[in-house]
Amino acid sequence: MEKSYETEHPVKACGYAARDTSGVFSPFKFSRRATGEHDVQFKVLYCGICHSDLHMVKNEWGMTQYPIVPGHEIVGEVTEVGSKVEKFKVGDKVGVGCMVGSCRECEQCTNDLENYCSKMILTYSAPYTDGAITYGGYSDVMVADEHFVVRWPENFPLDLGAPLLCAGITTYSPLRYFGLDKPGMHVGVVGLGGLGHVAVKFAKAFGTKVTVISTSLSKKKEAIEKLGVDGFLVSSDQEQMQAAASTLDGIIDTVSAVHPILPLINLLKPHGRLILVGAPEKPLELYAFPMLVGRRSISGSGIGGMKETQEMLDFAAKHNILPDVEMIPIDYVNTAMERLLKSDVKYRFVIDIAKSLKAE
Ligand SMILES: [Zn+2]
Ligand SMILES: [Zn+2]
Repeated sequence: MEKSYETEHPVKACGYAARDTSGVFSPFKFSRRATGEHDVQFKVLYCGICHSDLHMVKNEWGMTQYPIVPGHEIVGEVTEVGSKVEKFKVGDKVGVGCMVGSCRECEQCTNDLENYCSKMILTYSAPYTDGAITYGGYSDVMVADEHFVVRWPENFPLDLGAPLLCAGITTYSPLRYFGLDKPGMHVGVVGLGGLGHVAVKFAKAFGTKVTVISTSLSKKKEAIEKLGVDGFLVSSDQEQMQAAASTLDGIIDTVSAVHPILPLINLLKPHGRLILVGAPEKPLELYAFPMLVGRRSISGSGIGGMKETQEMLDFAAKHNILPDVEMIPIDYVNTAMERLLKSDVKYRFVIDIAKSLKAE
């Protein structure tokens, strides 16, 4: 017998789901677990569209469970709290990012690095502790353990701020961890999209010099005039790239498609570090020689722990760091995905869930 997504759990929910690798979305009625002792239930107000959502709905990373309701840049208002919830009360503004669970007792978890726990549970398309598949924020209601819920700063816009829950922490965390958060540092940002433009804003707020490396000259004017970057390199311009060799302390590479990394490594000073935060579906080509010359390194970085996510949000609120977004209704999501594939958005889509998603 086919299980019924609508009656599996007690809390009625509706959203938009993709049913197969076509990645095409349609309305989807399902259900969520009852608010447990440590859970927070909230009405979803806005949800950002991350490039990962696009990879996942098409099963490009080979781990998708259909039907999939993506969305991990979720903000909303608390409607119910469990009896043991300490941090939140009804009416609070909250957010949920990329993860909703972890073991809570391993070395990573006890060091506030739940994101690196081997039992970390993704916000959507992953089996939860009760065996149910998680569903993300392209939906009207969320239920999550309070440990994985962040407090939204006072007077900080929910709609514009939503993408910080993935794009924000994904770029903030490596800038901090690798010491690229100080004046005097020269930081490169590869790809000026959802992640890239937020990386630029954080790096500028930390007082570093920022150079954007892009395939497209068309983004130069805006990068300099609007985002205030100090330098702009077109990656295909070999003369330009050569002139900038060995000038960067670190590079945040946000590109999630296969791309050459050798030209990027050449931009690093000795001891410089290339940090990958995008996840191309195929391997990248690495040459050892430029790594040895100058003792350069390559690292990856994936989101951040819950403590750091809260810290990032508070920092963003204090420095008024907000992503540039295009607000859309949920029935526009298929078109939005097509546009996202062509990088035709400045720089993040955010779905106005409360206004456009109505339960029938
Ligand atoms: Zn994301
Ligand atoms: Zn753990």
